Amino acid sequence: MAEIRVENLHKSFGEFAAVKNSNFTVADGEFFVLLGPSGCGKTTTLRMIAGLELPTSGRILLGGDDVTFKRAAERDIAFVFQLFALYPHMNVRDNIGFSLKCQGFKKAEIRRRVDEAGRILRIEHILEKSVSGLSSGDRQRVALGRAIVREPMCFLMDEPLGALDSEFRHLMCGELRGLHNRLKATTVYVTHDQLEAMSMADKIAVMNAGLVEQFGTPQEIYQRPVSMFVADFIGSPPMNFLRFESGLARGSAEARLGDAVIQMPAVHEDVAPSKLVLGVRPEHIRFDDASPLRGAVYGAEYLGTTQVVTIDTEFGQVKARTNSHIQVAPGAHVGLRLNPDRLSLFHGDGGRAVN
Ligand code: ATP
Repeated sequence: MAEIRVENLHKSFGEFAAVKNSNFTVADGEFFVLLGPSGCGKTTTLRMIAGLELPTSGRILLGGDDVTFKRAAERDIAFVFQLFALYPHMNVRDNIGFSLKCQGFKKAEIRRRVDEAGRILRIEHILEKSVSGLSSGDRQRVALGRAIVREPMCFLMDEPLGALDSEFRHLMCGELRGLHNRLKATTVYVTHDQLEAMSMADKIAVMNAGLVEQFGTPQEIYQRPVSMFVADFIGSPPMNFLRFESGLARGSAEARLGDAVIQMPAVHEDVAPSKLVLGVRPEHIRFDDASPLRGAVYGAEYLGTTQVVTIDTEFGQVKARTNSHIQVAPGAHVGLRLNPDRLSLFHGDGGRAVN
């Protein structure tokens, strides 16, 4: 079992807390993504799991073993970085097998494992080539090969695709996920790119300023964000926020935005009159002339089969994703219908979701 358990993990650099009492479990064989903006503590968390950084407090368990104070070399993990330094004077085969050679593996075993990695990564045809002329994609595959041959309990990856252009990154995302489906090794993957995270992860932890803000499947995080931070960070374009003031009684399933009464999922708490924010994803807004929620079209962005229409309302600007055959002219006054089952409600002060 290669389950990774992080318990109350905390890391301070002097006065500054980079990681604040993190708790999460990565199940055996799971592809887990640590997602968040630059500086939120993703790399520090990963480095602590790897054994490259000592926690200030808390525990890390690997397959049930407390490894908190074990050195990196004593942990059965392989680390893949963004900047993959290959040995320029060695060919691909020797680069991939180098760590096994250092560990004293027999030549035949190294050959078997490198051949196997070459097959998995579909780079058998370049195994005897020099690394100097390789494309960035092949260099990335060689770097992955070096991790795979170690046959570790888990892989830790820190923005491994960060240096690639966006089209190629998308391709490599698919390859990495395919690789994971074959190897089924527990993987912790760090990225600030929400599309990368959503497309690959079984589970995601969204981090913000050292805290794990939400932990769940991509679907849970997309559909039921626990805060405006998560709602805004995930999705492209992100969730729309309509700001209004109201009080709500427990059980209420209506939000009153001016003259418009919007149906929404019932709330489970009493909310004193205050600033509130209704969250709706662009694909859950449609045009309906009969709706009392009105706005003026600002502009439209054509995306092929869909378009993103920007509309100014008295509660804030929103973006609606609609079929591109719907004609919208800038300045036109439109009614907006929001899908009542897909709305989120947040406290305007602090941004936490209303229960
Ligand atoms: P990025 O994507 O930019 O790497 P990140 O989410 O991985 O961001 P970390 O690298 O974990 O963030 O850094 C978290 C915070 O801790 C940052 O503010 C960073 O400056 C700080 N930090 C990281 N390492 C050290 C260190 N050795 N000494 C002091 N501060 C550090």
